[in-house]
Amino acid sequence: MRILLVEDNHGDARLIDMQLREAHDNGRLAQPAITIAQTLAQAQASVVDAEFDVILLDLSLPDTHGRDTYLRMQQTAPDLPIVALTGNDDEKLAEELVAAGAQDYLVKGQVDAALLARSMKYAIERKRSEEKLRLVAQVFEVALEGIMVTDAKQAIISVNRAFSDLTGHAEAKIIGMPMFGLVPDEGLFRKVWATQSSGEHWQGEAICHRLNGEHFPVWLNINAVKNASGHITHHVAAFNDITVLKKTEERLRHIAQHDILTGLPNRMLFEDRLTQALALARRNETLAAALFIDLDRFKIVNDTLGHAAGDELLRMAAHRLRGCVREVDTVARLGGDEFAIILGELASREDAALVARKVLQVMGRPFSLESQDVFVTASVGIAMYGEHGDDSNIMEQADIAMYHAKRAGRNNFHFFAPHMNELSQQKLALETDLRQALDRDEFVLHYQPQVDPGSGRLIGVEALIRWQHKARGLIPPSDFIPLLEDTGLIIPVGEWVMRTACRQARAWIDAGIPPLRMAVNLSARQLLLDDLPNMVTGILTETGLPPELLEIELTESIVMENAAEAVTALGKLKALGVRIALDDFGTGASSLSYLKHFPIDTLKISSAIIVEVEQAADAAIAGAVLSMARNMKLDSVAEGVETATQLDFLRREQCDSIQGYLISRPMPPEALAELLEQSRKTR
Ligand code: C2E
Ligand code: MG
Ligand code: MG
Repeated sequence: MRILLVEDNHGDARLIDMQLREAHDNGRLAQPAITIAQTLAQAQASVVDAEFDVILLDLSLPDTHGRDTYLRMQQTAPDLPIVALTGNDDEKLAEELVAAGAQDYLVKGQVDAALLARSMKYAIERKRSEEKLRLVAQVFEVALEGIMVTDAKQAIISVNRAFSDLTGHAEAKIIGMPMFGLVPDEGLFRKVWATQSSGEHWQGEAICHRLNGEHFPVWLNINAVKNASGHITHHVAAFNDITVLKKTEERLRHIAQHDILTGLPNRMLFEDRLTQALALARRNETLAAALFIDLDRFKIVNDTLGHAAGDELLRMAAHRLRGCVREVDTVARLGGDEFAIILGELASREDAALVARKVLQVMGRPFSLESQDVFVTASVGIAMYGEHGDDSNIMEQADIAMYHAKRAGRNNFHFFAPHMNELSQQKLALETDLRQALDRDEFVLHYQPQVDPGSGRLIGVEALIRWQHKARGLIPPSDFIPLLEDTGLIIPVGEWVMRTACRQARAWIDAGIPPLRMAVNLSARQLLLDDLPNMVTGILTETGLPPELLEIELTESIVMENAAEAVTALGKLKALGVRIALDDFGTGASSLSYLKHFPIDTLKISSAIIVEVEQAADAAIAGAVLSMARNMKLDSVAEGVETATQLDFLRREQCDSIQGYLISRPMPPEALAELLEQSRKTR
């Protein structure tokens, strides 16, 4: 044991030295290594130079005296235990020393070896536990967690700095207050109290209220402290602020419930909100509506301008939709180009119609993408809550209504009506069948002649698709072309049409029939396909049909709606040597001045205009269109010619060819063969 003996009196020093050795000899003390200092200055120098386990300090030294001696020594060696040696029996001084932190004191002359050894060991031990307590206190103080210690009755006896920082409560002001006054949640309080009374550890989330009235979430950890006999003496509660954690959690939940692209609620959250809205409507006996919204031409935009533009369009659409409703209404993206709206607390059905109209209006405005204006419209289905029995399938009803809106020509809205259920069943069945129709070879082409109105000579034919359905018989294209377009099946089916028509035209040539123009209809999706020119070239090569005998028909509205892309796509087709016809001309809202930008060969005048010819006054329109065609050096074909009056008129106006029931209905190739036979004879 390394001992610093600070003693100026030689006799006293020798005595203590002897007693220390005696204690060692008796086994009361480890081997002592004694350094003697005679002044405080010497002692202070010694503790700097060497290490000691304990200091024996005489308080009366040449350079200092009494309490001062102790304080100065302690300052120099704060980590060492000090046993003070007093010369006289001064109780007052002894008390002062202990209060100042001395580990023990001995009165000279009343000391024997045993007492000296015990006092030193005790001093060392005491110093050690003091250090430990100081460390614990420091940890308590610097901990980032807020900590409070209460007595067994849960009155606060101590809190740390973090506690005060987090709660705003100064320690002095809350000593004695009940612990859970700071966690003012009744239910939680009882739960925590129950586990604490049984001496168990409790941890969980709680809300901590700040002095200033704010509150924040915390993770709370409470332990009961028991004494040796197992009784609870204290509770220690530690908590940390989990605001950031909760925010992250919230963000994650947001991500799970929202569509990343548009930020709108996704299907999951939508269904939650719908359930709530319906429950509310039921309770308050108000009206609620679900709107199902599908963009009409989104797939085309996505295919032609690319996904980035498609995404941008969806974002813009989402934004516009939000603008159509009140803050409380939900607008969600269900996936793809499908959106939905929940309208709660409506006064009338008309309120829902109002929103639907607004939706159509905002979606009809051009979307400016990649510095061009893109047009997409929307079709909207509305289902009213409570109108049609079970409303658990209100979204299904809205979906069905939307489908009907689409069928009725898109860009409009329909309310759900019960009879639609049946129709949609049919639609589903039809769609399933349609997917297999191509493989099962159920499509057929009928051909309708186009003849010279003067001579009746056959100029060409138009290929028109039909679906030979096993149960329903021959289905007209108007019943399935929209479905083919929606499902994308129009691409392979359209290719089949072109190949079959070209092959047929070639077969007629091979059979010795004078070459006929073969007109084939194309839908928008096909026109916008990058691969279209390749497909056409392939088919022409494969069938050996001269390109100038193929006439590709595109409706005026398809071309006008995709004006920019159409100019390019038509240019590429034209370069292959095929002809191009503008179908159903006069029904779309084309600007006539635009017409000359398109590389077209033929203008097909819509039957809607030809019908007008019956009323002499309106024949002027047909006449004007025909003369315009002549001026632009375009071939003209009149569609839907049914009467002799029309025929006379067209003959007079020098229309190049006519097509219609008056001449012939579209017919299967075998039936047409006969007609071709006749035409050969008339030549
Ligand atoms: P479209 O290209 O304008 O074809 C003319 C339509 O008018 C045909 O109807 C034809 O049967 C009908 N029609 C002909 N003459 C008369 C007449 O005198 N009176 C009346 N009331 N109608 C007449 P269809 O065959 O039902 O075809 C309807 C539409 O379906 C076509 O209109 C065309 O847009 C589309 N279509 C037909 N086949 C195809 C195809 O293979 N591909 C694509 N994309 N569309 C096709
Ligand atoms: Mg046509
Ligand atoms: Mg037509």
